[in-house]
Amino acid sequence: MSHSLVTMSYIVAAILFILSLSGLSNQETARKGNYYGMLGMAIAIIATILSGSVDSTSAVQFTIFGTTLSGAATVYGVLIAALLIGGSIGATAALKVEMTQMPELVAIMHSLVGMAAVLVGYANFMDSSITINGAEKTIHELEIYIGILIGAVTFSGSVIAFGKLSEKISGKPMLLPGRHWFNLGLLIAVIVLGAVFLQQVESGGNAIIPLAIMTVIALVFGVHMVMAIGGADMPVVISMLNSYSGWAAAATGFMLSNDLLIVTGALVGSSGAILSYIMCRAMNRHFLSVIAGGFGTASGGQAAAIEGEVQPIDAEEAAQLLQAAKNIMIIPGYGMAVAQAQHTVYEITKLLRDKGKKVRFGIHPVAGRMPGHMNVLLAEAKVPYDIVFEMDEINDDFTNVDVSIVIGANDIVNPSALNDPNSPIAGMPVLECWKGETTIVLKRSMASGYAGVGNPLFVLENTRMLFGDANASMQAVLKALKG
Ligand code: NDP
Repeated sequence: MSHSLVTMSYIVAAILFILSLSGLSNQETARKGNYYGMLGMAIAIIATILSGSVDSTSAVQFTIFGTTLSGAATVYGVLIAALLIGGSIGATAALKVEMTQMPELVAIMHSLVGMAAVLVGYANFMDSSITINGAEKTIHELEIYIGILIGAVTFSGSVIAFGKLSEKISGKPMLLPGRHWFNLGLLIAVIVLGAVFLQQVESGGNAIIPLAIMTVIALVFGVHMVMAIGGADMPVVISMLNSYSGWAAAATGFMLSNDLLIVTGALVGSSGAILSYIMCRAMNRHFLSVIAGGFGTASGGQAAAIEGEVQPIDAEEAAQLLQAAKNIMIIPGYGMAVAQAQHTVYEITKLLRDKGKKVRFGIHPVAGRMPGHMNVLLAEAKVPYDIVFEMDEINDDFTNVDVSIVIGANDIVNPSALNDPNSPIAGMPVLECWKGETTIVLKRSMASGYAGVGNPLFVLENTRMLFGDANASMQAVLKALKG
């Protein structure tokens, strides 16, 4: 493939990635956005394989079971085998994964991007066929150093995020004494080691030693950074690691002199950074204080104890409340995803709307376990987009709501975020459903949500608790409404 054709293909792929991102920003166009992304990626892979850079590695030799293989055909053979193995692992994971495990899958995928950047960095560093000198060489070595640094932080941070999201590691922030000084020390060490690394490269010394020490420091930093963030701040961690994985890919692009990888990495990096900013704003937090960690642990005094009587109801009573209501708000949370209740919820929505009731959905920006989690579930159940509202659009309207149904949500409807300054989630905006006439909360027990904080909503006078699996409860309510 000629050089200009490769460049053309890369430009087309980059445009498709931009169209993909803009498509994904809206539910109606998200499917199209995905197709653009898939097409762009297919063009990118084919153009890279046929670009000639693969042919130029035909001098590479592989020794498998004592037989030495070489030449372009072998290189292509290995590439196709790698694509088939990687593709099948990816396809199997995507087919098998439950919607509730999606955030973990995303986290582990980010770790692979980080690991790829580290491996490409070391391969580049050891590649003796690269013959550049002077300033160009220094820049190349710097690219390797920075690429490995970002890659290692992304890798270890994402592995810890995976552990926290899959509850293999406690979700609570781990706060070491003097942790900010520790981080500062690591940063200074990385800068000093960078200078030593460049000096060693220049003088033909043993540059691998500072590079390896820096890699270990970056891995430790990734672990420490994500361990220190917890509770309700996890959404920011996910989008932040998403951003890091983009910058890691861009760094790989610099090392491999691949323009498309640089552009794609920058797109992912900057969109992840924008998402982190949006998440922080939604939670009324400053980005830097999230990174510094500690949210999710009470910082000042004791959080107020929750006192009061729980008022449980059954499905029949819940159905009666809905029959009598005119204005209904549905607030889905993580429990709806666990119970896979979205289809039954939509059945009930249709029935209530057919009875002439106003039914709307109120979506909190951090509901569920990944950005847009609830929107994906509701879209899957074919809930019309025009009755789904963001928190900011409907939060002032709860005084007009007759019944709010909270389906497996907890932290996002916790009044203590607004009225208990000692609460670990103090300051986070929440859906103020208690301002409506009655709130029905569907959950299995009195257990707390992701942030591990007690919720006084459950004992308010106008709250009724419908205990049980959200899908089973919703089905019972549907039956009662039909009967
Ligand atoms: P929460 O985690 O606060 O609460 C979910 C509730 O669902 C639990 O209290 C649980 O109670 C209930 N539940 C679980 N399974 C079922 C079931 N089968 N049937 C009925 N209820 C069930 O979820 P929210 O959506 O309210 O808040 C999201 C939280 O997750 C926030 O703290 C947010 O910061 C955090 N987070 C969000 C991410 C994002 O990107 N959106 C990423 C990572 C974390 P019980 O066990 O009693 O049933």
